[in-house]
Amino acid sequence: MTTIGDNLQAVHARIARACATCGRNSDSVALLAVSKTFGAEAVHAAAQAGQRAFGENYIQEAVQKMADVAALHAPPLQWHCIGPIQSNKTRLVAEHFDWVHTVERLKTAERLSSQRPAHLPPLQVCIQVNVDGGASKSGATPDEAVALALAVAQLPRLVLRGVMSIPDPLPDFAAQYAVHRRVRAVFDAVAAALPPGQAGFDTLSLGMTADLEAAIHAGSTLVRIGSGIFGARRYATAPG
Ligand SMILES: *Cc1c(COP(=O)(O)O)cnc(C)c1O
Repeated sequence: MTTIGDNLQAVHARIARACATCGRNSDSVALLAVSKTFGAEAVHAAAQAGQRAFGENYIQEAVQKMADVAALHAPPLQWHCIGPIQSNKTRLVAEHFDWVHTVERLKTAERLSSQRPAHLPPLQVCIQVNVDGGASKSGATPDEAVALALAVAQLPRLVLRGVMSIPDPLPDFAAQYAVHRRVRAVFDAVAAALPPGQAGFDTLSLGMTADLEAAIHAGSTLVRIGSGIFGARRYATAPG
């Protein structure tokens, strides 16, 4: 068993323990392996250990990595964009990713929808919300989130799947949980505002290596884990 395989097992055990302590089924929480800054061989090792879904922040880096591993894996791996998206990158994202967690403006969503190639299934998207930062931090405000979500849900080539947030690091469970609950409240508000029968809105993308337990207690259905699987990141080259 590789180190990455061992780490994956340990993360699955953490998820299962957290679910058990709040009465949830452990298969109600999906694991996204965040492979940013790690090479194709790390993705390959995780995939060999059974991991299928990978998260990437830097579009160019991600597209290269997808090409490097594509031939090795059938069925194909699933790729989630979890980084900020500049306007000039929407086409690459629409052409290469399965999911986008970081929709924070309608203009980005419109571009992703119009640029999604016809031969691919619709892009699965989450609205990114900012519950704890100032205006300089990415994400829609909780006040903006419902209207944005309703508009995104209308776009033909996108499927609105949920809400995502990246709360600032906090030292203890109680503080983490309090912030995560605010994201959960946004999720619940969007769910209540969507037309009845709207399918697919089922994802609360919340929790990283340091705070996955608090996120699961608050209702996360997808945790995004990088260092807990791949080890500490070193930023040797400028991300781009
Ligand atoms: C890097 C990153 C993660 C993973 O963080 P770890 O602390 O390494 O688990 C999760 N989500 C987002 C949006 C990230 O940028």
